[in-house]
Amino acid sequence: MSLRFDAISNINNTETAVPASAKITGIFGTNVFTLKTAREYLSDEAYKSLITSIRGGKKIDRNVANQIANGIRAWAESKGVTHYTHWFQPLTGTTAEKHDSFFTLKGDGTAIEEFDGAALIQQEPDASSFPSGGLRATFEARGYTAWDPSSPAFIIEIGQGKTLCIPTIFVAYTGESLDYKAPLLKAIEALNKSAVEVCHYFDKNVTKVTPTLGWEQEYFVIDEALATARPDLIQCGRTVFGAAPAKGQQLEDHYFGSIPERVYAFMRDFEQESYKLGIPLRTRHNEVAPAQFECAPIFEEVNIAVDHNTLLMDVMIRVAKRHKLVVLLHEKPFAGINGSGKHNNWSMATDTGVNLLAPGKTPKTNLMFLTFFVNTIKAVHDYADIMRAAIASAPNDHRLGANEAPPAIISVFVGQYLAKVLSDIETRVSTKFDEQDEAILKLDLHRSIPELLLDNTDRNRTSPFAFTGNKFEFRAVGSSANCAISMTVLNTIMADTLKKFKADVDAIIEKGDKKEIAIMQVIQRYIVESKNVLFEGDGYSEEWHKEAERRGLPNLKTTPVALDAFVTDKAKKLFENNGVYTHVELEARHEIELEKYIKKVQIEARVMGDLAINHIIPAAISYQNELLTNINGLKSAGLAESAYKSQLNILKEVSEHIQVIHDKVNAMVEARKVANNIEHSREKAIAYESIKSTYFDEIRYHVDKLEHLVDDEKWTLPKYREMLFLR
Ligand code: ADP
Ligand code: MG
Repeated sequence: MSLRFDAISNINNTETAVPASAKITGIFGTNVFTLKTAREYLSDEAYKSLITSIRGGKKIDRNVANQIANGIRAWAESKGVTHYTHWFQPLTGTTAEKHDSFFTLKGDGTAIEEFDGAALIQQEPDASSFPSGGLRATFEARGYTAWDPSSPAFIIEIGQGKTLCIPTIFVAYTGESLDYKAPLLKAIEALNKSAVEVCHYFDKNVTKVTPTLGWEQEYFVIDEALATARPDLIQCGRTVFGAAPAKGQQLEDHYFGSIPERVYAFMRDFEQESYKLGIPLRTRHNEVAPAQFECAPIFEEVNIAVDHNTLLMDVMIRVAKRHKLVVLLHEKPFAGINGSGKHNNWSMATDTGVNLLAPGKTPKTNLMFLTFFVNTIKAVHDYADIMRAAIASAPNDHRLGANEAPPAIISVFVGQYLAKVLSDIETRVSTKFDEQDEAILKLDLHRSIPELLLDNTDRNRTSPFAFTGNKFEFRAVGSSANCAISMTVLNTIMADTLKKFKADVDAIIEKGDKKEIAIMQVIQRYIVESKNVLFEGDGYSEEWHKEAERRGLPNLKTTPVALDAFVTDKAKKLFENNGVYTHVELEARHEIELEKYIKKVQIEARVMGDLAINHIIPAAISYQNELLTNINGLKSAGLAESAYKSQLNILKEVSEHIQVIHDKVNAMVEARKVANNIEHSREKAIAYESIKSTYFDEIRYHVDKLEHLVDDEKWTLPKYREMLFLR
């Protein structure tokens, strides 16, 4: 019996392990070395030093580091931990760990458990097997991980095993960053600096601005046995073949439906694991597509939120196994039904407790809101190409612009109230703008910005970057992506724009204008300069694509070309001026992203070939043989051709599809040989993109036709209707 039927017949025998209910507050953060825990386990000196380094990024000296390490070990051991690891986010897109035990032998052979400051602060994983984009040659694999005190240590539990994880950044000995976190931390600092300066126009008490992130993670869940019978899911994370089921998502009954029991048990289980790790999950629900779900936490500081999202993805994959389920984080696991995204809700908060993207209660605080609001629009307008590059990946190419997800055109949605506010400022602020005009306009604006914008912002689901009342939502981010990439870009472009804003306002003040007037004038100019990027309509529509073209907005549909924006002079200047990436680092990242793209498409092409030749064609031929036996039998029984005309037609049809599939798979192999000989990564990626667009859909078309024709019992790959609806 094929894996497929084995899986189907076993589905109802799968026991659902239901986790015991636990009060969230009782388990929240129990596996995290929180400040409260630190207070308990550290001396006053060590605790103070830890706090300063968290707040101001100040270096911790060796002696104190030893004390902190000892405290962390004491805590971890009290929880049964035996090993520790530096936990980091290399550019492969997953997380990495290398476990070492506390256990060690002293010179005289005594066995002891030890974790000293040096081990806390720095470790040397073999960097050669992580992608570096040519930053280090493999023979000089010198990279190290360095403790990031701003993200707390935590304990990962796998079965009975418990490991202490120290969040770290990963850098080369030459100083270049080799991970997602190091540049993110720099971008956060750059934003902090420029945002604080701009805040001082309104409030001198602000000393720190922290970007905030609340991600929404979409994912699919399917039965493990069914997934195992699909080599494409196992190897590529998506199905490369599969005919559309009679019932897909057209009834939209999944979205409103109750959560299936098995999935519900899984959700509660991974939620509990997440709570222990301090991930503040808040919502869970079904998504539009069958077997698609979403979860979202309460927002946190960007740095922590990024760690929590990567951690959550790990936890989900692991916990799913316990439930004999598979989580698909791929952006487009199934053709013809919605893909998955990871909306990044983003804002900025001051240490005085103000959300800079929430409208204020007074005209003055409203001006502060408008300043940050308009600067965000300006930033996205000026750097739309880099925003696009930030979300570019082979899997996200399937989603962007597929009439279900935001298009590859970056635009900003602000909602009708704010659109009106912007156009009022645009028309009413002029160079002759004086104090009286200012007073009137401020009051008018104050009246036209409803205090509770949150409930007054219309929802536009088709915009890649939408204002949602007190934050912007970057919707074009892919579900499998590390949020750090888009957050690094967003915070950097914001830092840069605010810096320019400050300079522009100061220049007017120097000429003798009042501060508020200067601010209004620059805001007005920024609105004029960036209104091209504002779009309130349907982002999925054909008209928008035409309109965007008229406006000259870029619409780069594929990753190999979208990534160009990372290495333009503009990008190099931006990232270097803000201390986020050096030229060399940008070039390296560009190279790595291209390589990732090439490899992903290459793997998919191979899997397609394997499946076509080893699964599809054999099933089709076996069916042909059955038809032939039938036809010959009918013939020898003396029946006229009309008795087996249909069989002959099916036979012919099956033959035709087999021929096309076989020819195309061979042609694709040849095209890959040509592509593999291309030296330059960008050209090679473009060649692979062309392989994908030339062959993938075509081969798939014929395979899916065969799925409809061939005897169901001979079909070895689980079908869409099974993967999506059986659980
Ligand atoms: P929805 O977008 O579905 O209406 P919410 O508005 O409640 O849902 O929030 C969606 C996500 O945005 C949540 O993760 C939430 O924590 C996050 N969020 C809310 N406020 C902010 C903020 N100031 N900064 C960043 N994220 C935020
Ligand atoms: Mg949302």
